[in-house]
Amino acid sequence: MHVLRNGTVVDAEGTREADVAIEDGEIVAVGDVGRGDSETDASGRYVAPGLIDAHVHLMMDGRPDVATAQDESAFDHAYIAAANLREAVEAGVTTVRDLGANGSLAIDAGRAVEEGRIVGPRVLAAGENVVMTGGHGHWFGREADGPDEVRRAAREQLKRGADVVKCMATGGVLTEGAQTGAPELTPEELEALVDAASAKGVPTAAHAHGKEGLLNAVDAGITSIEHGTFMDREAAEAMAAEGTYWVPTASALKNIVENPDAGIPESAMAKAEDAAEAFASSFDHAEAAGVKVAMGTDAGTPFNYFRNIADELAYMAEFGMSPEAALEAATATAAELCGLDDVGYVAEGYRADLVVLEGNPAEDADAWADPAAVFADGERVA
Ligand SMILES: [Zn+2]
Repeated sequence: MHVLRNGTVVDAEGTREADVAIEDGEIVAVGDVGRGDSETDASGRYVAPGLIDAHVHLMMDGRPDVATAQDESAFDHAYIAAANLREAVEAGVTTVRDLGANGSLAIDAGRAVEEGRIVGPRVLAAGENVVMTGGHGHWFGREADGPDEVRRAAREQLKRGADVVKCMATGGVLTEGAQTGAPELTPEELEALVDAASAKGVPTAAHAHGKEGLLNAVDAGITSIEHGTFMDREAAEAMAAEGTYWVPTASALKNIVENPDAGIPESAMAKAEDAAEAFASSFDHAEAAGVKVAMGTDAGTPFNYFRNIADELAYMAEFGMSPEAALEAATATAAELCGLDDVGYVAEGYRADLVVLEGNPAEDADAWADPAAVFADGERVA
């Protein structure tokens, strides 16, 4: 048994003084705990749940023009994924959800972590994105047209072990020629995808910027809207009414608009600047309507590095969320979205995914930067 001694536990349930005991990858006690075989002094520090990043791309390395990855081999992408996983977990991310990779790359990465061959967070993965022919991200997606083919494409991902089915409900910023806001998969196609996924009890995620495509996805019963850039009051209210989660991925947009003249294709730059203004008000609409927010970064997109997870929490706070709300989005709510019931809290019986911080993250979103220690599945990794 290892004991984190004399710290302040902080999670979505609140803050309390408590020791935390871990054994065989599990939290076995929280409170006054007897002597451990080994101990970490957490006095004056905060013990928080490991972070859950509900939207990453393990095969991408933050280069300015993601499409250049088309010229590289699957082996290159696998090495990039291994490096990203290590970066993420050392920064305090103990669960990632990959929303689009080549073939089974991200699903295989999850197994490699689980079997201890590489160091990283727990990986949930979508397999390949389901996209319309020529749609956003088509170069690493499974192109499908019409409800029957979309259903088949979703089932292919489930067959290879997908934990979530991801699709593109609108165009995107980083695909040349794609209109950011324009709908892509049709309402009938989205319904077929949700139907295929729900047969396996697996959540669905839709990339959606524009309002029309966003509402198509919400009406189809998609579990989470990714980005939601042009969410207005009506869209936010529809999401709240349906219980649709929002994964804002503030880091994706921020890192594009904050890096002009750095090699990001001009078409992407212009679309991102156009989107940035609308995005800020999405947070206001989401809060007013009571939309459930789960943290995701879209890590791997331009200048959006896995090690910079603390930035996403800081951005959420900058856009008006309280530090407690950001903490909840990054732990309890993200776990709920992913369908995980053993992470997101510091509580007995939960996985020993823990981050030790110098400052109180419920009071200051910047406290997530530079953790003093990180435990993933009970192993100290940083
Ligand atoms: Zn993405």
